[in-house]
Amino acid sequence: MPENADLQPVLDRAAAGGRITPDEALELYRSAPLHALGAAADAARRLRYAGTEHIATYIIERNINYTNVCVTACRFCAFYAPPKSDKGWTRDLDDILRRCAETVELGGTQIMFQGGHHPDYGVEYYEEHFSAIKERFPQLVIHSLGASEVEHMARISKVSVEEAISRIHAAGLDSFAGAGAELLPERARRAIAPLKESGERWLEIMETAHRLGVESTSTMLMGTGETNAERIEHLRMIRDVQDRTGGFRAFIPYTYQPENNHLKGQTQATQFEYLRMIAIARLFLDNVAHIQGSWLTTGKEIGQLSLHYGADDLGSVMLEENVVSSAGAKHRSNRLELLHLIRTAGRVPAQRSTTYEHLVVHDDPAHDPVDDKVVSHLSSTAIEGGTAHPELKLVDAD
Ligand code: SF4
Repeated sequence: MPENADLQPVLDRAAAGGRITPDEALELYRSAPLHALGAAADAARRLRYAGTEHIATYIIERNINYTNVCVTACRFCAFYAPPKSDKGWTRDLDDILRRCAETVELGGTQIMFQGGHHPDYGVEYYEEHFSAIKERFPQLVIHSLGASEVEHMARISKVSVEEAISRIHAAGLDSFAGAGAELLPERARRAIAPLKESGERWLEIMETAHRLGVESTSTMLMGTGETNAERIEHLRMIRDVQDRTGGFRAFIPYTYQPENNHLKGQTQATQFEYLRMIAIARLFLDNVAHIQGSWLTTGKEIGQLSLHYGADDLGSVMLEENVVSSAGAKHRSNRLELLHLIRTAGRVPAQRSTTYEHLVVHDDPAHDPVDDKVVSHLSSTAIEGGTAHPELKLVDAD
């Protein structure tokens, strides 16, 4: 029973799948005892996944960073270089295709094409790259970009966002990764990303994408000085759109990393705040199926714990990651370790697809992969001239 007994009926309602208001969510987030909050979220997860509640999923994917050149200069970002900076780089199509080939070779099913807002990259750039990737690797799901990139490319090409979305979808984009959500409420967003589109605009573009048949995930960047009320408002904004479209497959909160960016780590979310967010997201976002624990930014043990606070998915073995690692996230894993983490958290691991179908259920450790090369790699923005870091050369280019 929570110390504040008035909260128990609210927790019970949410645990049973009932809807809670933003005010109730804020009160729970602020005041409910951590374990009571987690227990309610876990009950809601079990209810939603009755029959498969013993499973926790992961995916094998690769982030492919095509350029770090960006005109948007977000204050939390350690990845970008402004145009004309000698730290800027771009990757050519051959390099990108080689990285796709390695992903397929290692059993990856998804790529996340991720980069800066390059002043020259309009819709045509993405059409060319997505169609080339799909032509060579039709089995790879392109789960990439977000509303910010769409807004930027449409502006560069002087077309509507509807046209931009339709064209890159036709060229091969399967779904949006929900990049650029950061914090959606206006004050918190302006403080960290003053040149980005507003949160309302970000949601408007995602809603447009959903209506055009392109689903997405949704994200939240925690720990840049936002208030608890702004965190809950972020969730409310997502839930309202989801009520209309149903196009958000998942919600993925992750924590701000403090190195090498203009915010200089002045504020950061604690592990408890992160777990509370996982739990309140499961309870408040009654219309979003999947909640992902981000071990990449919070660490493996917190990732394990998140599975008991409402998360049903533990993200990915990311064969390459350069963005949050540039800002200090140094957690690495490989598939065997991820299987171990999920099992010792009391779940059966399952490799999933982008759309959350179970591809392989690892219900017998005796059948786990051996000699596994599926390892997450961190490189850095010190990749000069766009040349691959040696440790990324996992297979021959040809
Ligand atoms: S977060 Fe994205 S848009 Fe913002 S500066 Fe970094 S690369 Fe550019």
